[in-house]
Amino acid sequence: MRWLILIVALVVAGLVGTAFGWQWVFAPLLAYALLKWSIASLRVLVTDAKHDVEESKAAPVGTDERILFWCEECGTEVLLLVRGTSRAPSHCGQRMNERTEILN
Ligand SMILES: [Zn+2]
Repeated sequence: MRWLILIVALVVAGLVGTAFGWQWVFAPLLAYALLKWSIASLRVLVTDAKHDVEESKAAPVGTDERILFWCEECGTEVLLLVRGTSRAPSHCGQRMNERTEILN
């Protein structure tokens, strides 16, 4: 059944293309491809955001160790009191390195 629809679509596209010009065949195909690409790009952003929220729920809170981040480029150190995501913060255009200190 699927191949029959494809054959009918190709025949109709051929008839329209030869009768009215091929821009009437390729412009809708291009528009459809751009629409699919745009929706897929937006969907990636949404799934990324959901992934970040799930990671932050899994992060441990209130342990007796603290996590410092330091920048390899300039030496800046950051102590995060509340950690939103498990991803390291950025400094000097790159991800900071993680160092865990165990409190006495
Ligand atoms: Zn830096």
